[in-house]
Amino acid sequence: MKTPLVQILPSKSVEDRKKDGDVYVSASQITTFRECRAKWAWDKLDRLPRSESTPAQKKGTRVHKILENYLKDGTPPDPGTEEGRIALAGIKFLPDPQAAVVEGELNIMADNVNYIGFIDFEYVKDGVPVVGDHKTTGNLDYAKTKDDLKKDVQAIIYAAYMIEKHQTEVIGLNWVYYKTKSHPESFIVALELDREAIAKEFNKIQTTAKEMMEAHESGKKTKDLVPNPNACGNYGGCQYLKQCILNNPKWKETDINSKRARRVMEKLEKEGHDSKLWEDKLMSKLTLKEKLALRKSGGTPEKVAETPEITPEKVAEVPEIASKKCQELVKVDTKSKLCQVTVILIDCLPLKAQKDYITLDEIAQPIIDQLNKDLLEHKNIQDYRLVEYNEGTKELCVRMDDHLTNTDLSDKFIIVSTSSQLGRDLLDVVVKHADVVFKGIR
Ligand code: SF4
Repeated sequence: MKTPLVQILPSKSVEDRKKDGDVYVSASQITTFRECRAKWAWDKLDRLPRSESTPAQKKGTRVHKILENYLKDGTPPDPGTEEGRIALAGIKFLPDPQAAVVEGELNIMADNVNYIGFIDFEYVKDGVPVVGDHKTTGNLDYAKTKDDLKKDVQAIIYAAYMIEKHQTEVIGLNWVYYKTKSHPESFIVALELDREAIAKEFNKIQTTAKEMMEAHESGKKTKDLVPNPNACGNYGGCQYLKQCILNNPKWKETDINSKRARRVMEKLEKEGHDSKLWEDKLMSKLTLKEKLALRKSGGTPEKVAETPEITPEKVAEVPEIASKKCQELVKVDTKSKLCQVTVILIDCLPLKAQKDYITLDEIAQPIIDQLNKDLLEHKNIQDYRLVEYNEGTKELCVRMDDHLTNTDLSDKFIIVSTSSQLGRDLLDVVVKHADVVFKGIR
């Protein structure tokens, strides 16, 4: 008789887990731990608060809810909403309503490691148990391939659970991808895995999970784990970067490759943190071109590395549109025709219209307020424009770049006027983040 891969445990509520002080791991925890142990530890060992969900994550949650309702009771996705249209593109890949277990809890044990999770849907198709997951993404190029899925942590944990639950030798994986930007599109990555293939990968997961359990049980904290600064820039930047620089001595002992890390370190230096050590390390990471530019500008590595660029591809086929044409453009519901892409209108009229429009000044104001607050606190300067050598404006560009990287503005037209200094200062940064640019003729 074969040794079971995992033991299936009864369901347990989140409240009961908290009450009993359960220690468990999930697929996302394991993935984070493998990416950077410190990133996992700040959350799970030091219990630092997590940042809020990004707009893209919130959109993904809404799409998931629509798909859940469809699978549970057949509620059709509403084509009148963006999320409904996204979900509709993929329902052709799903089982019929009420044919699957939806949002079922996974609670399993393997060699004293408790794994938990929630499965989007599971059902039996042509005699083969199938586990399915909805994946929303702005770009389908990021979707996993069949080969990726064969080693994917989440897929393998779900597969181990399914193979024991159904006491079978083969299970199916159905990963359904939904594109959340531009026009809705969907595709499925489907494959079958046998017990042997699952066991091989699950063993590797167990090794990681045991390391995590050991960290928990021995009372370790983040400072006891080796960080991975190469991961600092992943997914729009790690939320714990400042903590790591200031509080994790091991971080200083490792190589610094991330541009984002360079940026934050410069900020900390401005706040009075001794970063001579960092600067030496950063210099060694610069390319020759960056070093030459640095020497010419007399600036720091950061300033050279982060100068934003406008690429020709960012400019639409119709770069020059007269103001009159722009007025016509905004009268019709162009946004729905262009679908959900980030559009900027430069020097077009009107400067402000319906709820679909936002001016660059509105986006920038909270960032400027925070920047001025920081400058007052650390440099006793009241306004970023008063900082010598245009450093304040450069810092504003960096912060705006950060903000646009982490903010989904694809449901808005961004209106930019180059008659203001702010518009001219931030133009390059905003264009860098746009999918389509319209420019009016003055
Ligand atoms: S800032 Fe970098 S090193 Fe620190 S936890 Fe995040 S990814 Fe890891």
